[in-house]
Amino acid sequence: MAHADVEGRLEIMVVSSRMSACLGTDCVRVHSWTSDGRRVCWNPGAGVVGAVDAESRHARVPASLARRYPLPRPDFWVAWTRAEVHAKLLGVPILSWLKAHGLGGWEVPGIRTATHDVEDLVVTVGRLESAPRTTGAGHGEVGMVR
Ligand SMILES: [Zn+2]
Repeated sequence: MAHADVEGRLEIMVVSSRMSACLGTDCVRVHSWTSDGRRVCWNPGAGVVGAVDAESRHARVPASLARRYPLPRPDFWVAWTRAEVHAKLLGVPILSWLKAHGLGGWEVPGIRTATHDVEDLVVTVGRLESAPRTTGAGHGEVGMVR
């Protein structure tokens, strides 16, 4: 498998709901929808398993999450979208991921992510560079970096 840098193939589009560039079922890229109806479309590269997650950096952090993860707002959304991308790539519900691993401070072998500012959005993209080793719980093996 090629190990092209995430940046090297970065191609993020933010699509308003009325634009046709990536609507319908034809677009084979990966997507994330924002709460105000925009769709973020990313091309991870041919044959590559990728995931994208986007949130407005100005969005209010839900109270229960703010209590549990007291981070400044932009930092929260960076950490959140990164966790979402890991959960999506590993096929784990985000709440299960948070319960098992928390919001940050971990690295997963075989997953590369990068976070970008696109318009008012925090966008994290990630790709599976090798099959993650799995535990009995079905989660990728997660190494703590603290
Ligand atoms: Zn698309």
